[in-house]
Amino acid sequence: MTHVNDATNGAASTDGWRRAGGQRSTAGDDKSNWAGNYTYTGQIVVPGSLDEVRAIVTSGRRVRALGTRHSFNALPDSEVLVHLGGLPSDPVVDDERRTVTVGAATRYGDLARYLHGEGLALHNLGSLPHISVGGATATGTHGSGDANGTLSSAVSALQLVVANGDVVEVDRSTEGFDGMVVGLGAFGIVTRVTLDVRPTFDIRQDAFTGVAWDRLIEDFDAVMGSAYSVSVLTRWASDTIDHMWLKTLVTESTPDLIDATHLGAVAAPTSETVDEQPSNLTSFGVAGPWSEMLPHFRLDSTPSAGEEIQTEYLVPRDRIREALRALRGIGDRIDAALLITELRTVAADDLWLSGASGRDAVGVHFTFVPDADRVNAVVPAIEEILLPLGGRPHWGKHFLATAADLAPLYPRRDEWAALVERYDPSGVFRNRFIEERVLGD
Ligand SMILES: Cc1cc2nc3c(=O)[nH]c(=O)nc-3n(C[C@H](O)[C@H](O)[C@H](O)COP(=O)(O)OP(=O)(O)OC[C@H]3O[C@@H](n4cnc5c(N)ncnc54)[C@H](O)[C@@H]3O)c2cc1C
Repeated sequence: MTHVNDATNGAASTDGWRRAGGQRSTAGDDKSNWAGNYTYTGQIVVPGSLDEVRAIVTSGRRVRALGTRHSFNALPDSEVLVHLGGLPSDPVVDDERRTVTVGAATRYGDLARYLHGEGLALHNLGSLPHISVGGATATGTHGSGDANGTLSSAVSALQLVVANGDVVEVDRSTEGFDGMVVGLGAFGIVTRVTLDVRPTFDIRQDAFTGVAWDRLIEDFDAVMGSAYSVSVLTRWASDTIDHMWLKTLVTESTPDLIDATHLGAVAAPTSETVDEQPSNLTSFGVAGPWSEMLPHFRLDSTPSAGEEIQTEYLVPRDRIREALRALRGIGDRIDAALLITELRTVAADDLWLSGASGRDAVGVHFTFVPDADRVNAVVPAIEEILLPLGGRPHWGKHFLATAADLAPLYPRRDEWAALVERYDPSGVFRNRFIEERVLGD
């Protein structure tokens, strides 16, 4: 086993959290998350085998899994944080079942490139390809697209080390499986994840600007339904939204030029016409494999300096117009701390703690300045608007709501708590965040 203090670059170099540019030490004593807004209190260990994972879990200490550290809160923290970067990724495709099984620490971007090489695809990706499969699916991470569920919704089986050290395999036929997928790390250390796959496809990305806020609210379904995956990027107090990124599924009938004038949009400069496109973003005005075009950021670049705090609420789609109008009402306050907002659609799933559980949802995301005081000055006003409308905070991002606030938003929360109790009666995988924000005891 390797402690993070002596973790080799080999064990950890595939991790997105080791940022380039010297902004954060890559020395093993760095215990901060990617954004630097939280420092883990426990010991970080990198086991080299499944047996080592089992030994850590049964060591008598409180333990949790740590992915690529891209969450913005204390959710992964514990006495011991187990990072699985020392176990093989070893992707295995099952042609008959149309699945791939992969090590939980594998980054989505690496898996996507592998699958595309095999002629296969996942249904969607988040904006950042650097996040781990285990960490992203545990928090209900999502991309965009009216017909696209969360990344967690593609999980068909899990292998995990549970509290007594057993290695357990669960799948869609297992009682409570829908509670375990968005599991927040509370059921154990997920070592391998099985995901649904489909034939590979190409995506074309185009950027637009000029859509009036009022038009967006009025024609929300037309705008968000205008491509396979649509992202609206904006501030709140302006009359028009800043950008709209359309990721269009390429078929034989896809036109050479994507037109969005019927939505009141004008084309933004593309990567073919602008030399200055940020090099960390995927290309515009061109088509390419899903693995490269569905994320916003390129796998082989540093997404950003990490100088930001992210917050997001998954709002029921049928309440989104009310939500957007009310947030526009405090637009100046939001913009005072905001770098950018992103709106994305997420199809309903059945996963008990998913932000889209039981209803189609819209992700209302805020990338804020890296100043907790300024962020916390406005988050209560946002929660005051969005929680009563059914908005559920993204588990991996910053929020202030407590378990009592969230209980009414998750009809199966008590069942989830009972299931956790069954798998982990002694609370090996419990932590303060789970107690204060989810269980409420
Ligand atoms: C720049 C940036 C862009 C982002 N873009 C998106 C986006 O497009 N869409 C979106 O929905 N979210 C997005 N996020 C949020 C991110 O997807 C989530 O926070 C995600 O959980 C991060 O995965 P991770 O591997 O870093 O997990 P960590 O932050 O390391 O851990 C998160 C949780 O997962 C658990 N976990 C991790 N690995 C395992 C495992 N093997 N077994 C059991 N539990 C495990 C941890 O215990 C913890 O509870 C973004 C974050 C950043 C920083």
